Amino acid sequence: MPAPERFTVAVIGGGIGGLTLALGLLELPNISVHIYEKAKAFGEVGLGVNIAPNSQQALAKISPKTEEAFAAEATHNLWPSHANSFTTNVCGMQGVDDGKVITRQVNATGARSVHRAKFLGQLVKRFPSERAHFNKCLMTIDQPDVRSTDKLTLHFKDGSTASADAVVGADGIHSHVRNAVLSREEHVGPHYTGCVCFRSIVPMPEAVRVLGKEYAENCHLLCGEKAAIFSYPVEHGESLNIIMMDFDHPHWDAPTWIVPSDKNELKRILKGWNKTAEGLVELMDTNVDKWAMHDLPHLPYYHKGRVVLMGDAAHATTPFQGQGAGQAIEDSLTLKTLLAACETKHDIRAAFRAFDLARRARTQSVVTTSRRSGAITGMMLEGIGSDIGKMKEELDMCYQWMWNRDLDDQNREALLLMKEAEGYHA
Ligand SMILES: Cc1cc2nc3c(=O)[nH]c(=O)nc-3n(C[C@H](O)[C@H](O)[C@H](O)COP(=O)(O)OP(=O)(O)OC[C@H]3O[C@@H](n4cnc5c(N)ncnc54)[C@H](O)[C@@H]3O)c2cc1C
Repeated sequence: MPAPERFTVAVIGGGIGGLTLALGLLELPNISVHIYEKAKAFGEVGLGVNIAPNSQQALAKISPKTEEAFAAEATHNLWPSHANSFTTNVCGMQGVDDGKVITRQVNATGARSVHRAKFLGQLVKRFPSERAHFNKCLMTIDQPDVRSTDKLTLHFKDGSTASADAVVGADGIHSHVRNAVLSREEHVGPHYTGCVCFRSIVPMPEAVRVLGKEYAENCHLLCGEKAAIFSYPVEHGESLNIIMMDFDHPHWDAPTWIVPSDKNELKRILKGWNKTAEGLVELMDTNVDKWAMHDLPHLPYYHKGRVVLMGDAAHATTPFQGQGAGQAIEDSLTLKTLLAACETKHDIRAAFRAFDLARRARTQSVVTTSRRSGAITGMMLEGIGSDIGKMKEELDMCYQWMWNRDLDDQNREALLLMKEAEGYHA
């Protein structure tokens, strides 16, 4: 049997999605992978990110490098009694259900969180520096004809160009690669969701002093009317990551998505909440920023010819289920599996079509259920409101289907779709 043809893949964007994919592709003898990143270095905002069990599994399957990078930074709930708990949802309003547990969501591995910048640092140090190109802001892509196998040309803002046989757009919610996939009429841009959030990382000893040991050292979601506060340990238990979400902020007029705010705004939003909420606000930074939450309306497809979208570029979601980075990581696993099966450049188009078919429905459902779980958590969903029995039922449903997807089965399905696709020359 002839050796598979070697080809080049350009990954646009070096966030969690782009880097996990590129590390996976490094393992494939038929692929030469390069990352083009618009920033002058890889970087992330230094806050927490929760990695759900499905995404933990995907990291282990993509490559030993992604598994090691995660293991180096992963932080569990600190108490053995919370080992399998993703989060404990608690009522945060003063009144009848004050402090009552709504649901404790349990799964095989429990909550595992990372400090974003440190996790990204672990990924970066495992990627060869000569394959990472910085200050390369992609503007446009020339794809001669979707059926040809001539190289694609990438045009960067600095006037330089590069060529590749396949392009993966991992360039986030403001993706430029999206313009090479969708026509002008199909253009889809970020959508403001009417929610904002505020985030801080605080030293664990301070958090324990204010919240008590059990609350501070394990993942909790404090729920109440129109808001919620999510908190979980990061940095191997040295710090507590806090994210306060306001689900009732209908308008966003500022030109940027992050604006300065302060604790008075938090106190106003959380009027009538309990002592734990007051404690969480006390812990947060005095001049905390306010972040506008956007997601992406459903795209009609994720690829055109040999250009494909992944992660936030394809399906940016609200953070209410902790799945944005997680779904980008699942994308990496499926793309690696499909690209590994390409024997010639002709197969790339079939691989990307199969990726679209295998991943679009699941990733778009995450966007939908994430919004829904935000509304449930904020006691705003019609027919459910603050009825904690109904909240438990609905929240459990929103999570279990995401966590329990068999990723080997997803890969098998994707490979079958690739074989069925027109143009696949196996
Ligand atoms: C408040 C908040 C909390 C969150 N919490 C969680 C959580 O707990 N769990 C979870 O799984 N997810 C969470 N997310 C979502 C998660 O952060 C994103 O889904 C994830 O980072 C997306 O990764 P990505 O690689 O697709 O895109 P990004 O991280 O946006 O990376 C895109 C990269 O592309 C580069 N780039 C952009 N344009 C270009 C260009 N034209 N040319 C070259 N490079 C370019 C950027 O500089 C960047 O490095 C949260 C999000 C927010 C806002």
